[in-house]
Amino acid sequence: MDNLKSPIYVTKPSLPELQDFFPYLEQIWKTKILTNNGPFHKQLEKELADFLGVPYISLFANGTLALVTALQVFGISGEVITTPYSFVATSHSLLWNNIKPVFVDVEPEFCNLDPEKIEAVITSNTTAIMPVHVYGNPCKVERIEEIAKKYGLKVIYDAAHAFGVDYKGKNICNYGNISILSFHATKVFNTMEGGAIICHKANTKKQIDFLKNFGFAGETTIMACGINSKMNEMQAALGLLQLKNYNTNNEKRREIDHLYRQNLKGIKGISLLAKPENTVSNYAYFPIFVDEKEYGISRDALYEKLKTKGIYGRRYFYPLISEFSMYESYDSANPAKLIHAKKTSQEVICLPIYPDLDSKEVDYIFRCISDFRIHSSV
Ligand SMILES: *Cc1c(COP(=O)(O)O)cnc(C)c1O
Repeated sequence: MDNLKSPIYVTKPSLPELQDFFPYLEQIWKTKILTNNGPFHKQLEKELADFLGVPYISLFANGTLALVTALQVFGISGEVITTPYSFVATSHSLLWNNIKPVFVDVEPEFCNLDPEKIEAVITSNTTAIMPVHVYGNPCKVERIEEIAKKYGLKVIYDAAHAFGVDYKGKNICNYGNISILSFHATKVFNTMEGGAIICHKANTKKQIDFLKNFGFAGETTIMACGINSKMNEMQAALGLLQLKNYNTNNEKRREIDHLYRQNLKGIKGISLLAKPENTVSNYAYFPIFVDEKEYGISRDALYEKLKTKGIYGRRYFYPLISEFSMYESYDSANPAKLIHAKKTSQEVICLPIYPDLDSKEVDYIFRCISDFRIHSSV
């Protein structure tokens, strides 16, 4: 393939066949149940809990509102330890709750919050840890739990990247006190917009369901200042169909991941993440890391050159959250303490990966990356 017919973007949302969606729409038009825990909403909660293997799930309009609510249900306040190497919604959810984010560096292996740096920043105001399973690779969950127990902290996982990921034989969302998922268009399982909270106790789910419906705990009772973050029936119906295609899509992603790994491992100056152990992956992202000295040109130069060839990767995550002007004045945003996060964010490009990406396109991307390398003259 020498010339592309159309550009290749970092992702392309999967959708079911349109005709398969019509019966669901007919049902909605017939019953006039559009939202407020309707039949599709109930069914999707049940099917997702079974599919993922998690005890309780509450559906949300999006992942960010799920994060905001997850913090509220435990009354988290004061300071929360989190990662700068994430999508900005992670820290925004803290600010929405008047919580101070405390940034801690990531470990170089998987770019997840480094547990060994947590204890040094715990103060009397610390109430929780909010790590992210970046690219769907599990955090060091056992070590994080150990620290949380020792200091009496809650653990709230931003598992927005980690739909369908199992670690040591169980779904990753079974770790920590609570986890959130995102079903945004760009994620491996989408309801166009959408999200969820996974929790371990019936009573927690009950409180979450109040909070996502203005705090109503009965027709005339309000239990807290909840918000409206309910998933509607169209989103839920779409989710039911998407779930049927998840395994096929996951298999296609796995093949692409495999092809990329085979091809790219030979290019000097390009490094890849290892495959995580004891993990069933979702192949949500394919990050590569560009070592300018070895590869000959910088990450940004490669990123721009790929664009000229119709290949639109994304620099997830660049800049760091701690580098945005609204966050940079926090003490913990000091780049001198976020060495690995900073380095990673300057080297990363996430390459296109989605079920419809064919092997010729993968090959084309590989050849471009290979050709752009500037060989030393010796
Ligand atoms: C996508 C994402 C979110 C936000 O989810 P939305 O559904 O888009 O609100 C939060 N955190 C991370 C790490 C994400 O990638």
